[in-house]
Amino acid sequence: MARKRMIDPKFWTDDKCIELTSEGKLLFIGMWNFADDSGLLPNKSKQLKAQIFPASSITHEQINELIVKLSDLGLILFGNKGQLIKIKGWKNYQKINRPTPSHYEFEPDDPDDSLNTHEQLTPNIIEYNRIEKNGIEKNIKVKDQIDELFEQFYKHYPRKVQKERAYKAFKKLNNTDKELAISTLEDHVKYWSKSERSKEHIPHPASWINSKSWQDELPSDHEIPKKTKFDVSKFKYDTSYNNLIGYCSKCGKSSFYSPYKISSEDSRCCKVEILPERTQELVDKMQPKYKEVLNKVYNNE
Ligand SMILES: [Zn+2]
Repeated sequence: MARKRMIDPKFWTDDKCIELTSEGKLLFIGMWNFADDSGLLPNKSKQLKAQIFPASSITHEQINELIVKLSDLGLILFGNKGQLIKIKGWKNYQKINRPTPSHYEFEPDDPDDSLNTHEQLTPNIIEYNRIEKNGIEKNIKVKDQIDELFEQFYKHYPRKVQKERAYKAFKKLNNTDKELAISTLEDHVKYWSKSERSKEHIPHPASWINSKSWQDELPSDHEIPKKTKFDVSKFKYDTSYNNLIGYCSKCGKSSFYSPYKISSEDSRCCKVEILPERTQELVDKMQPKYKEVLNKVYNNE
């Protein structure tokens, strides 16, 4: 069955092709159409005349001469006692998707031909280059796509640190995980925002990706503990007036906090809510000796 075939533009300037007459070139190209997917076709000059030069004055004897010329130039081989023509280097310069297996078993007439592979059209190299170039272009396309997806992810990630590490982690994900990372991020961001998570307590994006956090189950709305409304004005400054004094709501320890950051921070020691003063409950919880001292302060003794 005749097939569409490719003609490399370099064909016309190929060393061997230059030596062919216009009819020789036409015959050679025409043969590609009527060769099977293995580059094999019957050596029948009358048939080739009907297929390639149907209304031309060219005779099948002349076609025979052209065929011999193609063979002399090393562009084709004869096989099966002159019954078959094999186009040399076929697979190198015709890219065929899902080739149909050949009906022929090619046996070269010249035994040396089975070893001799260097005499063929140079487009094989051109074709290799083309395939390689396509490969690179494809890689570039894939890279662009990953970059685009990553930017989409990173744009929405609330903690922008170590972008390069995040990119490397993201690149390693399979496509499904890439999509999931992007599609579930919104819920995570909402959760962090609702639970008033300070930035420092949002994982680095690379860690978030590496631990495949999109698989995490997020607490539903009513499970998110509501932080008491934060009122910076309740906090006292230290003596330098640079920092606010905050107390850990878990252990009672005091620390200095920046007035600009305190509302989004957790206590340095236990990573819990920061209070403007120790509650009696906290004082009770603290070391008895310490408590005694504190009680004196509290009671202005
Ligand atoms: Zn603490």
